[in-house]
Amino acid sequence: MLNFQPGGYYLVNTDGEVYSIEEARIKDRNLQALVDSEVYKKSSTKRAPHIELMKKLKVAGYEELSDPGHVIFKPKGNLIFDLLADRTLQIALELGANLVKTPIFYDLSFKSISEHARLFGQRMYKVKSGKRTFALRYAACFGQFSLLSDSTLSYRDLPLKIFELADSYRLEQRGELIGLNRLRKFHMPDMHILCLNIKEAKIEFEKICKRCLEEGHRFGWNYTSLYNVSKDFIEDPKGLDYVRSLVKMEGNQVLLHVVESGMYYWIINIEFNFVSQQGRIIESSTAQIDVGNAERFNISYVDEEGKERRPVIIHTAVIGSLERFMADLLEKASSLKTPSLPTWICPVQVRIINVGIDSLQFAIKLAENLNINSIRADVDDRSESVAKKVANAEVEWIPYVVVVGKKEVEGGNLSVRVRSVRKKLEMSEEELVKTVKEETKGWPYRPLYFNILVSKRPSFV
Ligand SMILES: [Zn+2]
Repeated sequence: MLNFQPGGYYLVNTDGEVYSIEEARIKDRNLQALVDSEVYKKSSTKRAPHIELMKKLKVAGYEELSDPGHVIFKPKGNLIFDLLADRTLQIALELGANLVKTPIFYDLSFKSISEHARLFGQRMYKVKSGKRTFALRYAACFGQFSLLSDSTLSYRDLPLKIFELADSYRLEQRGELIGLNRLRKFHMPDMHILCLNIKEAKIEFEKICKRCLEEGHRFGWNYTSLYNVSKDFIEDPKGLDYVRSLVKMEGNQVLLHVVESGMYYWIINIEFNFVSQQGRIIESSTAQIDVGNAERFNISYVDEEGKERRPVIIHTAVIGSLERFMADLLEKASSLKTPSLPTWICPVQVRIINVGIDSLQFAIKLAENLNINSIRADVDDRSESVAKKVANAEVEWIPYVVVVGKKEVEGGNLSVRVRSVRKKLEMSEEELVKTVKEETKGWPYRPLYFNILVSKRPSFV
C-alpha cells in the first residue's frame, strides 16, 4: 500500500495499480508531457502554432488599448466564439441545467467573498468604486452561490444544476499570457451541481467527467488527465476505489497529485488537458467536488425530515473557457495533414467562385439558397483569376468550393472541390446541401457575420 504524501505525484493505471511517479512506467507521450510540465516544471518552450493561426485566419488579435491578455475577436473569430458558446448552451440544456446571469464583480468586504478570493491571491483582478473594492469574478461561483443561498431548496430539487456562460477575469502574470490559451479576460461556461451528499455527488461527478471526455472526443481529441485529490480523500479506501473507477472509465493512465487536506475547498479536482503536438498542456475541461463553499456561502436544503443540510457542490466546465477551446481547435488543426476546422464551426462552409461576370448572378443565387438552408456560403466575386480565388479559399480552409461558369448556369451539375478528400465531385445543389447538413448534424448553426460578397469586406475579415 502506498503512502500518499501531500505534494506527491503518482500514476494510476487503468487496472487500478498506483505507482509513485519515480517508479511509474509512462506509456503515452501526452502523459509524459503532462508529467514534465506538472511534476518537473519543464514546459514546452516551442511557440504555440495557434498564435500564428489566429492572425492568419483573421480570428483574433491583441487589443493594445486594453490591459494585456484582453483580445478582440474579428467577425470570423466572433462567429467561432458564438458557435462554441451555443454548444455550451446545448450541453447545459441537455443536462437539464437552470440558466442564469449574475454580476461580474463582488464586494471584498463580505467575508464569504474575501475568503474565497484569498485562494486566488495575486491573480485576483480588482476594481475600485468610491470607497468600495470589488473582486472581478474568475468564474460564476459567487453569483450562483449567492442566488442559491437566498433560495429555499428542498431535497426534491436535488441534484440541481445551474449554468452561466461567465466572462471571467484573472490577473495572470504578463509572461504567462499565451495567445488564446491564457488570458486575463476569458469566458467560462460554468456549471454547478448541488447534490444531497457525497454519495450523490460521486455519482453525478462520474457522469459529468464522462461527459467532459465525450465532448473532447466529439471535437476530435483525447484528454490527458490530472487528478488533484486531498490526502484525506485518497487515504480513505473508498476514495481510492472511486479514483480507480474513474480511471477505468477514462481508459487511460492518469497523473494523481495529492494535496494537504483542507487546503482547498475541493476534495477532488480533475483537469482534463489537451496536449498540443508541441507538448504544450492546455487545461480545457474541469470538474471538482466542493465540500467547503456550501458552508461558506450559507447554502442549504431541507431534507426529508425537515432538517437543514449542506449540499455538496460540483463545479464543472465541460467546455472549459471558450478561448482555450479555440486554441485547442487551432492547435489540433495545425497538427493535421490538411489543416482544417470541423465544418460546423468553419466561418465559411461553402465558397462559390464565379467564372466571369456572366455567372455572378447565378453564384449569388446559389449562395443565398445555401444560406436559406442554414449553410454559411459566400461568393468570391472579385475580378481575380479562378486559380487565385481557389487558392484563396484554400488559405481560408473552406471545406467546400464550387466554381460556377456557363455549364452550371445552363443547368448542369455543380463541380464541388471537397477539401477533406482533395477531390472534385459532381453533385446537384440538393446533394451539396445534404452533404453539408449530414456533416454538421447536431451542432449549432449561426449565419454569416459578414457580407456574402468577398469584394464587399473590409481587410480585417
Ligand atoms: Zn465554480
